[in-house]
Amino acid sequence: MLKIDIVSIFPEYLKPLELSLLGKAQEKGLISIKIHDLRKHTTDPHHSVDDTPYGGGAGMVMSAEPWGLTIDEISDNTTQFDLIILTPAGKKFDQQMAIEFSKKENLIFACGRYEGIDARVGKYYAGQKNFNVHEVSIGDYVLGGGEVATMVIVEATARLIPGVLGNPLSLKEESHTLTNKDGSLVEYPNYTKPALWRGLEVPEILLSGNHGEIAKWRIAQAERRTQELTEE
Ligand code: SAM
Repeated sequence: MLKIDIVSIFPEYLKPLELSLLGKAQEKGLISIKIHDLRKHTTDPHHSVDDTPYGGGAGMVMSAEPWGLTIDEISDNTTQFDLIILTPAGKKFDQQMAIEFSKKENLIFACGRYEGIDARVGKYYAGQKNFNVHEVSIGDYVLGGGEVATMVIVEATARLIPGVLGNPLSLKEESHTLTNKDGSLVEYPNYTKPALWRGLEVPEILLSGNHGEIAKWRIAQAERRTQELTEE
């Protein structure tokens, strides 16, 4: 079972993880998701989690100690953990990374806020023998916090775990998993009933029942869409 621990100062933000596919996956015991409130691991009366940046500049930086205390409480010295620190300065998340994470046993997500987390947190855990640290971005833009980024990664990762999707074949023919000799493709267009909607017809080949020709048409469409994206 994949165990996921998420640390945030806004635990409520992560409520959607209880719904739909991920909610069912937790009920079935395929994954577990625990949300931790960083403020519960502060030692001052105001429960502060941030301070002014060394070197000056705008904004506040999240202090290392509450992160250290929280991650130490979640982890132990023997189990292997992958700590994922969300940051727009990290490696770009993609399907390959989702596949890699779906094979892990213990993922800890650190959701930053303000100007981000004191850089020593990542450095400290990278030096612990039972930790792998990944600094991960979900795209080239800046969000207000790491919670939404965490939900993106958790959903993309969890749906790859056997049993989470009702029909595992759905994983075979989808964007970024479909491939041709040149690399990965985005998916072909999909249609459902009725065959005629507002004057628009479903491509005739899909009604033909000729599965070989349908497969060829789909690959051609996936290649066309992928090509169009690279031309944009
Ligand atoms: N000062 C940081 C910078 O310029 O790189 C941005 C901090 S951002 C306002 C606050 C937090 O949101 C980050 O610590 C991170 O956890 C999260 N965040 C923002 N954009 C993100 C992205 N594209 N991917 C992942 N996390 C992101």
